[in-house]
Amino acid sequence: MKIRVLGAGAGGGFPQWNCNCHNCHRIRHGDMQGRSRTQSSIAVSADGSRWVLFNASPDIRSQLEAFPDAWPKTGVRDSGIKAIVLIDSQIDHTTGLLMLRESTVPLEIYCSEMVRQDLTSGFPLFTMLQHYCGVNQHELPLDGDAFTIPGIDGLRFYSHSLKSIAPPYSPRRHHPQDGDNIGVIVEDLSSGKRLYYAPGLGEIEPHVLAAMQSVDCLLVDGTFWVNDEMGRAGICDKRALDLGHLPQSGPGGMMEVLGTIPGPRKILIHINNTNPILDDASPERQQLDTVGIEVAYDGLEINL
Ligand SMILES: [Zn+2]
Ligand SMILES: [Zn+2]
Repeated sequence: MKIRVLGAGAGGGFPQWNCNCHNCHRIRHGDMQGRSRTQSSIAVSADGSRWVLFNASPDIRSQLEAFPDAWPKTGVRDSGIKAIVLIDSQIDHTTGLLMLRESTVPLEIYCSEMVRQDLTSGFPLFTMLQHYCGVNQHELPLDGDAFTIPGIDGLRFYSHSLKSIAPPYSPRRHHPQDGDNIGVIVEDLSSGKRLYYAPGLGEIEPHVLAAMQSVDCLLVDGTFWVNDEMGRAGICDKRALDLGHLPQSGPGGMMEVLGTIPGPRKILIHINNTNPILDDASPERQQLDTVGIEVAYDGLEINL
């Protein structure tokens, strides 16, 4: 299985257009050892030519241009992207669908019933796309059951619900339900190797821990280093956990959780622009290095 990180940043990307935080300021002025990052998305393939996109970020156009495997190969209209899995209905994970409207065939989209509802009501992307390429929506299992994607031979997928918070425009904003957010295991049927992708993880529920322990590579929530990171940066008083993201440091944080799982390669993804781990020379980044946790960047390729 081949995995390509198209975008490793959280919503807003890095730097964010209107942000002058310590990181955004320094990366713009060339004062920081690190790289910019577009918004969160990966692509996965068994054969290197037919790819499944996980999330469609607002940065998808530049992400696909930087990814030759996705370029058109045959005929006047073509793409290496054959299907799309949405992990939730957040703006930074779905807005890119509008950029795919030129498709000559309906978009094959795999998402939960909750996400379908959001994208036909509060943020009606699916409704809008009916006026362009159209959408074939396929409902995902929420209990860890397997699904396959026609035309994507050699990969099997398993999806489960995660505790999270629906977006502000969701009819369920204050009434979270199973399927608002999911985690996915991708399994290569020939090698047996497995990936777990969960860029939004607010709580390590038992089924999440079991999934994390069962795979060869983890691409998991790297949004915030500390719970009050936005407050410390003077941005707002929303806490990481209020936004559905488990911070990396501190008791019960992502580093501690990953420390109990010796097997897989561990990579943080969906990194917010305030997070000190974006600075390759920061003490926080060195802490991750010491315990063997990597930080994803745009263009990272993983072969499993
Ligand atoms: Zn996001
Ligand atoms: Zn910033």
